[in-house]
Amino acid sequence: MKRNIAIIGAGVAGLSAASVLQASGARLVVLEKSRGVGGRMATKRVGEAVFDTGAQFFTAREDGFASEVQRWADAGKADRWPGSEHRWIGRGGMTAVPKLLAEGIDVERERKVTAARHHPSGYWELDIENAEILRAERLVLTAPMPQALALLEAGGVRLPDAIAAELRSVTYRPCLAALLVLDGPSAVPQEGVAPSEGPLRWVADNSQKGLCRPTAVTLHATPEFSAREYGRPESEVLEQMIAAAQAWLGGRIVSSATLHRWRYSEPVGSLPKAFSWVPELSLGFAGDAFLGGRVEAAALSGIALGHHIASQLIAAPVDL
Ligand SMILES: Cc1cc2nc3c(=O)[nH]c(=O)nc-3n(C[C@H](O)[C@H](O)[C@H](O)COP(=O)(O)OP(=O)(O)OC[C@H]3O[C@@H](n4cnc5c(N)ncnc54)[C@H](O)[C@@H]3O)c2cc1C
Repeated sequence: MKRNIAIIGAGVAGLSAASVLQASGARLVVLEKSRGVGGRMATKRVGEAVFDTGAQFFTAREDGFASEVQRWADAGKADRWPGSEHRWIGRGGMTAVPKLLAEGIDVERERKVTAARHHPSGYWELDIENAEILRAERLVLTAPMPQALALLEAGGVRLPDAIAAELRSVTYRPCLAALLVLDGPSAVPQEGVAPSEGPLRWVADNSQKGLCRPTAVTLHATPEFSAREYGRPESEVLEQMIAAAQAWLGGRIVSSATLHRWRYSEPVGSLPKAFSWVPELSLGFAGDAFLGGRVEAAALSGIALGHHIASQLIAAPVDL
């Protein structure tokens, strides 16, 4: 069966595009390489402790997005960060939001796309690890840009030079995230801390966000520290990050420490437009490579690309 649209990536951009397209009646599939949805809106459980490991909160500055966030809140999946008017969080963890967006959508998990080929007859063929080739009339890529472009390269697809240069200009910073369970309350302020010096850029106590009862502290390292230490053994990295966080650990014992490595955390030089569409290939790009990065931008990008494609969906679905 050939789909109208295949979307690669079940992060907030891919799922936002999927929601719009599904509402327009398109026959679509979202392919996600991980076991869960959400991408960098990620929540991890360690015993009773719950951590937001990637995005810590999101904003809703644009009217179009504020109404979407209100819908998430009305569905019981988003809350304001306790004590903050401008920050939003997923209820029980960030993944609550992408899980809501994925409801009713055909999301195929553990489907890692390894190459995207554009067939001479005008449709897309996707190679998927341990699964059959999938065909679609249109393709939407929402993985971080270097990963998205690598799929096209693997499929021998040549983009128009100007578009290729623009998309290649977006690079990403890495981020090392340490997830600590403490044996008692931390000394992290409720609103979290963004240290101005040292190897850490962010310290937050997930129990104060209402995610869990045990004290679960997320530490994010600076891009410089993360790039330098990225390949080092977990124990060495954790030791340095825990040492740097002492002032906020309240003298508590760290009963569990886990490291998560984000190779692509935030874009550098994101593009000042909502999405990219290549009409001659029926190919779209969305995600936080557009509009300034972050959750709000990624969602707005996905929504905008979804509407763009929906407006041109006139052809009836074709079965091969
Ligand atoms: C440590 C960290 C802290 C952050 N803090 C904040 C914050 O506080 N506030 C904020 O607003 N933003 C924050 N961000 C950024 C925010 O998380 C992202 O901007 C946003 O979630 C990006 O969404 P996306 O859908 O564009 O991409 P992603 O969430 O990365 O989704 C892309 C999806 O594509 C999948 N994928 C990739 N390749 C393939 C493939 N070959 N086949 C199938 N699937 C594939 C991935 O598994 C992923 O699920 C943070 C990010 C990180 C990592």
